[in-house]
Amino acid sequence: MRERQPLQFRNMSDATQHTNIGILQRFRLHGKRALVTGAATGLGAAIAIALAEAGASVACHGNRRAAEQTAETIRSKGGEAVAFSADLSHTASPEALVNHTLEAFGGIDILVNNAGTIIRHEAAEYPLEDWMTVLQVNLTSVFQLSQLVAKGMIERGGGKIVNIASLLSFQGGIRVPAYAASKGGVAQLTKALANEWASKGIQVNAIAPGYMRTENTSALQADETRNRQILERIPAARWGEADDLTGAAVFLSSPASDYITGAILNVDGGWLAR
Ligand code: NAP
Repeated sequence: MRERQPLQFRNMSDATQHTNIGILQRFRLHGKRALVTGAATGLGAAIAIALAEAGASVACHGNRRAAEQTAETIRSKGGEAVAFSADLSHTASPEALVNHTLEAFGGIDILVNNAGTIIRHEAAEYPLEDWMTVLQVNLTSVFQLSQLVAKGMIERGGGKIVNIASLLSFQGGIRVPAYAASKGGVAQLTKALANEWASKGIQVNAIAPGYMRTENTSALQADETRNRQILERIPAARWGEADDLTGAAVFLSSPASDYITGAILNVDGGWLAR
């Protein structure tokens, strides 16, 4: 089928003139430089590859597993990518990671804060050390990376920050108090940063994935009872796949979402609507 040309409007008001570039063009990320954390695996790898497919150069961050494989996949498709490793449970890591990316690309236009960890214990016995690790990786490093990257975005007059939140930004969960607290914090931080930086041309949004089929949820998938209960509760009646998230990630990274900020977009097969 022949690709349809974008419609050309002759008499446009100022308010609508950017429609002239064609709606699909507004999802393009050509010339943009992105940093995606936790890009070695799961949702982060899919997001990094999708941003590259939309045209962005992508710095893929990994931790225990290097994100070189994701970067190689992008390069094999003709895109530009680099890979860096950093343990975000250390407070010094965000600065090093941003500096590496700036050295490689000269700037960061899109930051996807995807890296996250989950540690399960009964709340009454939750070790403080594990609490601190989860809060540092899932929330404090998100703030640090956003702060560091926003400096350049403010100087250039714009940028996109996409945080990966969770259903547990809204619900409490069981045996995951640190994870729920951190992801609730991510949703609130998204709104706080969005308010401060909207006038600088920076949009800060979050995606709240539902139950996605990744390593993060492998224990739930393997537990027959929990797996059945989860599937019964999801209106779409299936686990989400990593690719289910990529449309939302590209959208929130692109000019198509320029008037959306402080939003939490649920990608959950209807879980929260139920
Ligand atoms: P995943 O494959 O386990 O990905 C998590 C990523 O975070 C990994 O790449 C991991 O790298 C990285 N990470 C963990 N600890 C880190 C640390 N100390 N320093 C730096 N990076 C670290 O699981 P996923 O499902 O794709 O999760 C991606 C994001 O989505 C997370 O924020 C998660 O909370 C969120 N989420 C997932 C679901 C779901 O159903 N899967 C639902 C809601 C939200 P290493 O493995 O190399 O340490």
